[in-house]
Amino acid sequence: MNAAIPLTQRLAGKVALITGGASGIGACTAKLFVKHGAKVIVADVQDQLGRSLCQEIGPAETVFDVHCDVTCDSDVQNAVDTAISKYGKLDIMFSNAGVHGEMESRIILSDNTNFKRVFDVNVYGAFLAAKHAARVMIPAKTGCIIFTSSVASVVSEEISHAYVASKHAVVGLANNLCVELGQYGIRVNCISPFGVATPMLQKGLGIMEKRKVEELVSSAANLKGVVLEAEDIAEAALYLGSDDSKYVSGINLVVDGGYSITNPSFGMVFKSHLS
Ligand code: NAD
Repeated sequence: MNAAIPLTQRLAGKVALITGGASGIGACTAKLFVKHGAKVIVADVQDQLGRSLCQEIGPAETVFDVHCDVTCDSDVQNAVDTAISKYGKLDIMFSNAGVHGEMESRIILSDNTNFKRVFDVNVYGAFLAAKHAARVMIPAKTGCIIFTSSVASVVSEEISHAYVASKHAVVGLANNLCVELGQYGIRVNCISPFGVATPMLQKGLGIMEKRKVEELVSSAANLKGVVLEAEDIAEAALYLGSDDSKYVSGINLVVDGGYSITNPSFGMVFKSHLS
């Protein structure tokens, strides 16, 4: 028996399109989806990376890449149309492409062009992904749209206003789509990860060593003894993309080990006062 093939293929017969699928969370999800029997289209601007990833994952009949800038309507249209012409349907749209933009967190010093760029990719890109997915899912009266938001959609801290606002917007978009598309049997959900050591976070922190980034993230985490990895977010996407979640729509699945419900500051002040 091939250990790489799970006993139950939870996405057997399904077709998935993953934006931002060439790297990090998207790449891990592409691997897991194929392992679970899905046909996958990796849509990204990093063509070389997308191509080599697909070649590594499986044969071209099962997984292939398309050039897709999510801020370009015709690129997203083409990616969805390619799924239809190749496989005849689209079951899962994983709208995952995103950028962090500048790390500056002070409003007065925040760059205007950066704000627009972050919204362009994270929000307009998600809107286009949903729009083109809905175009083919509505007539099929089935489908599932998953967005990657962020823990920044549920907790506020000193990070870029553009990024935080964009990830809140993604959750708002998902909620509104959930209401509109439920009548067509289409489920819409978000995943909101805590820090994951992907190229995005590594570049943002200026630390290219993955283990060091994981240590840094873990030191701030609520849940100790485990490290959040891109594979954990892929597992969340697998759940939301599969029929295991057939009645789950309109949720923001926060994968943060409880970080966002934790605020130790009062306890710390209280303890230091008592000691
Ligand atoms: P990553 O940089 O490894 O992957 C992001 C991918 O998106 C890249 O392959 C990139 O080429 C692609 N992309 C960027 N702009 C694009 C565009 N205009 N069109 C198409 N593709 C584009 O980073 P990641 O951490 O895997 O990020 C995936 C998602 O997860 C993002 O939406 C990010 O905001 C979100 N997220 C990441 C973290 C984290 O700590 N890494 C935490 C919360 C949320």
